[in-house]
Amino acid sequence: MRITKLLPVSIISLVLFSCQTEPKQGVLIKIDATNADKFSLQKDASVSSEGFLLKNQSSAVSSNFKVKNFEFTAKLKTTAGAEGVLVFAAPDAGASEKGYAVEINNSDYRIGNRQKTGSLSKIRNNFVRTATDNEWFTLAVTVNGSQIKVSVNNKTVSEYNEPAKVQRSGDIIGRVLSKGFLTIRKTSAEGELLVGEMTVLPLDDAMKSVAAAEPDSIMKVVDLLNQQEFPLIDFHGHLKGGLTMDQACQHARDNGYNYGIAANCGLKFPVTSDSTLNAYLDGISREPVFKAMQAEGREWVTLFTPAAVARFDYIFTDAMTWTDNKGRRLRLWIPEETFVDDEQAFMDMLVGKIEAIVSHEPVDIHVNPTFLPDKIAADYDRLWTPERIDRVVNVLKNSDVALEINARYKIPSIAFLKRAKAAGVKFTFGTNNATNNDLGRLEYCLKAIHEVGLTPDDIFLPRSANDKKVMKMGLPAKITG
Ligand SMILES: [Zn+2]
Repeated sequence: MRITKLLPVSIISLVLFSCQTEPKQGVLIKIDATNADKFSLQKDASVSSEGFLLKNQSSAVSSNFKVKNFEFTAKLKTTAGAEGVLVFAAPDAGASEKGYAVEINNSDYRIGNRQKTGSLSKIRNNFVRTATDNEWFTLAVTVNGSQIKVSVNNKTVSEYNEPAKVQRSGDIIGRVLSKGFLTIRKTSAEGELLVGEMTVLPLDDAMKSVAAAEPDSIMKVVDLLNQQEFPLIDFHGHLKGGLTMDQACQHARDNGYNYGIAANCGLKFPVTSDSTLNAYLDGISREPVFKAMQAEGREWVTLFTPAAVARFDYIFTDAMTWTDNKGRRLRLWIPEETFVDDEQAFMDMLVGKIEAIVSHEPVDIHVNPTFLPDKIAADYDRLWTPERIDRVVNVLKNSDVALEINARYKIPSIAFLKRAKAAGVKFTFGTNNATNNDLGRLEYCLKAIHEVGLTPDDIFLPRSANDKKVMKMGLPAKITG
C-alpha cells in the first residue's frame, strides 16, 4: 500500500530530474543569476546583482547536468587574493578533483599559485598572467572528442589532446575525459570570485575525433614535468626569421611549455627609446607570453628610463658584446670581431666582464652564459676551470641573477650547472632562436633538469610589479664595459 502510494511520486521526480539533466546537443544554454535552475550553489555561494558571488573557500556553482563534448564560456571577475578552478569531466559533483581543472588566478608573479588563469592544471600548465583582478574577463573551454582547448579573452592559452592511453600519477590518477559536471569553485580564502553569465553549448557525443598519438620520449618527460607543476618555459624566444607570435604560441602549446618573447633593445636595434619600447609593449599586451627585454650591447643602460624598463616581465642580457683592454669592441659570435691573443688572458677578461655586467646592470637573467668564440669553443671544459666557474656562480648568486640553460648552444656544461645549483642559483631555460625553424623542444634543458636534479623551486619566475630590480637599483650612470 505504502509502496504503490510512493511510486508515482518517485516516477514524477525521476522524469523531472531527467528533463533537467539532459541538455540538448547544439542548443545553447545561457545561465546567469536570473536563470539559475540548471546550476546549483554550494558552500555559501550567493547571488548578487552582478552574478554568482563566490566568497568563501570552496564556494561553488555547479551544473545539474553532465556534458561530454561542449563549448563553455564564463564571464569572471576576481579581487585580490581570489583563486579558483573550473572543473569539467568530473564523474560526480562531489569528486571534482577527479576532473580536469582550469586555474583562475590573476595574482601578480611570485604571489599565490604559480599557475595563472587558463592553466590546464598539471596537464598543460600556464605561468603567464592572462587577466587582471577587478576586470571582467572571459574564460572559455572546449572539449571535442579527445581535444581540450582553453582560452582567455579569445586568446588560446592551453591545448591538450588526450592520448588513448593516458599517463597519470599522484593526485591526478583518474583525470580523463568523460561525461561530467561543470563546476566553478573558489579555492582560496581571500578575495572574491564573481561569475557573470555562463554559456554551455553541448556538442554531439557521437562525434569522434582522433586521439593523440602515443607521446614520444620527449613528450613523456614533458607530461611528467607538467604533472609536477614544473615551470617549463622557454624564456628566450625571438620573433625572428618570419616567426609570428601565433606560431610561437602554437609551438609552445604543441610541446607542452610556455614562451617568453624578447624584444632586442639597444643601439641600432628595433627598440631604442622609451617611445619605441612603449609602442612595442602596448602592441603585445594581450598575448599569452612573458614580455621580455633583451638588453643589447652595453649601451642600453643609457637609452631607457627605469620606469619604462620595469614594464617588462623580466630583463636579460649576455656577455657576448664588450670592449677589450685594447679598446676593441668584441662580438663573440662573429669570428671577424673576436680577438683571442692569449686564451688564458681572454678567459680572465671574459670572467671579469661577466662579473661587471651581472653586478652593475639591473638584469634578471644572464643568458647565452659561458659562450666561447669558435676558435676556443672546443676547449670549453679545460678553459672553464672550477675557479672561473665559481667566480661566475658567486656573482650570479650575490646579484640575484638567474642563469639561463641555453638549448641552442647547449651551455653551460652540466658540471657548471651542478656547481650553480649547489650554490642556490636560480635557472631559466632559453633557446635564443634565430629563425622560425630552430625553435627546438628544449632538449638540452630537459637533459639538464634530469642530470642536475633541478626542482620546480630552482626555476626563476618574474618579479612582482613592486619588486622590479631596475626600480630598486636604477640604471648605471655609465656603461659597464
Ligand atoms: Zn636573444
